[in-house]
Amino acid sequence: LGARLSGALVKMSKSSKVDQDVVDACLKEICTALLQADVNVRLVKQLQTNVKMSLNLEDLQSGFNAQRILQKSVFQELTRLMDGGKPWVPKKGKQSVVMFVGLQGNGKTTTCTKYAYHYKRKGFKVAMVCADTFRAGAFDQLKQNATKARVPFFGSHTETDPVKIAEEGVERFRTEKVDIIIVDTSGRHKQESALFEEMRNISEVVQPNNVIYVMDGAMGQAAHDQALAFRDTVDVGSIIVTKMDGHAKGGGALSAVAATRSPVCFIGTGEHMDEFEPFEAESFVSRLLGLGDFKGLMNKITDVIPEEAQEEMMEKLSQGSFPLRFLYDQFTNIQEMGPMSQVMSMLPGMANMMGGGRDKESAANIKKYMTLMDSMTTKELDNPDTEKNMKMLSETSRINRIVRGAGRQYRDMYELITQYKMMAKMVGKMKQMKLPKKGPVNAR
Ligand code: GDP
Ligand code: MG
Repeated sequence: LGARLSGALVKMSKSSKVDQDVVDACLKEICTALLQADVNVRLVKQLQTNVKMSLNLEDLQSGFNAQRILQKSVFQELTRLMDGGKPWVPKKGKQSVVMFVGLQGNGKTTTCTKYAYHYKRKGFKVAMVCADTFRAGAFDQLKQNATKARVPFFGSHTETDPVKIAEEGVERFRTEKVDIIIVDTSGRHKQESALFEEMRNISEVVQPNNVIYVMDGAMGQAAHDQALAFRDTVDVGSIIVTKMDGHAKGGGALSAVAATRSPVCFIGTGEHMDEFEPFEAESFVSRLLGLGDFKGLMNKITDVIPEEAQEEMMEKLSQGSFPLRFLYDQFTNIQEMGPMSQVMSMLPGMANMMGGGRDKESAANIKKYMTLMDSMTTKELDNPDTEKNMKMLSETSRINRIVRGAGRQYRDMYELITQYKMMAKMVGKMKQMKLPKKGPVNAR
């Protein structure tokens, strides 16, 4: 999508005059790209109309600003569509039951644990109830997860009625004064109607304060109907989108938000219980548009980089500047940041550079690129003018010096430079997106 979008915008910037036809053609291309990213057809139509209405042809005709205006408008419109309102949150001192629904394999059980762990760390007393009697081993899975998170749990190996288990479990934890009682459910039945009836029955006995619909971020056009089906059965209050660490752009999530009119509260970014983040519409849309998860990356960076170094980096990035030194520092930091592929996927172009994001290959590539940068001069590393620097770095004598000094191949250098150029271009674009300046630093 990112490539298509930029393609459309470049086309527009090349047109000598921006008229309605050019804008329409460009918008059409963006919409095609969104459809391919699994955004619901009706939503795309709506977006197209809204963007068109918000655009002022006279503004667009002012020339070089045109693509910026259109891009910003698309970004804002998507962010607005993705905003389903303020999600429900548990309150301290008030007992809540939270029921999780969604089809099997979407990540419910994993997400229940993440949710429990998240609120446990915030000082809530939490507990989990396994009301999935359909899947063999469901209780063992929940038990294992809960034990790992040190969260009390309830379930049964012998009872076959999930409604009974749910009722008993919730009752027990109510008397034990648990703050958040999490009810995990099944996601499959021999008959679909039976599943929905089961959800309705469980919901009736446990009287949830919130029902969370868990969906796989890779879900495509089917997301709309599926979310709607759950919404018609139980009172879905919020959504959690899982597996956002993979290649999924999450277009289906937009459909689910629209279908249920419920906000996304969290996203799942891995199999482990701490790979769980509060949802942020702007980051999500950036990712959907292929602009990289700027804010998410910033949050990660602030975890490992000393504060005085952060300011400078934020400043540079938000000005659209991306000197090679920054890439070098990223590599150093990434080595301390843990699950590498996760961090990588947030920076535009990074995934490419890392050979598909497999950690072992990534580590080898990082080393390769770092040795090359080690044989560069300070001037080459710190030049804030990417274009000039790239011109400089295409001089044969420089390339020879660097490649020889690093004991690497010419093609390694070529790879590094090609990818770096692409990333610098992306960062340059971020500047236009009005992204947060020192947000994460102040938030702490
Ligand atoms: P359920 O059937 O809905 O309860 O789904 P599970 O919780 O059993 O998860 C199904 C699979 O998805 C498991 O292998 C999980 O480890 C995996 N999974 C769940 N959430 C995520 C996520 O955010 N990222 C990744 N990569 N895998 C996930
Ligand atoms: Mg499960």
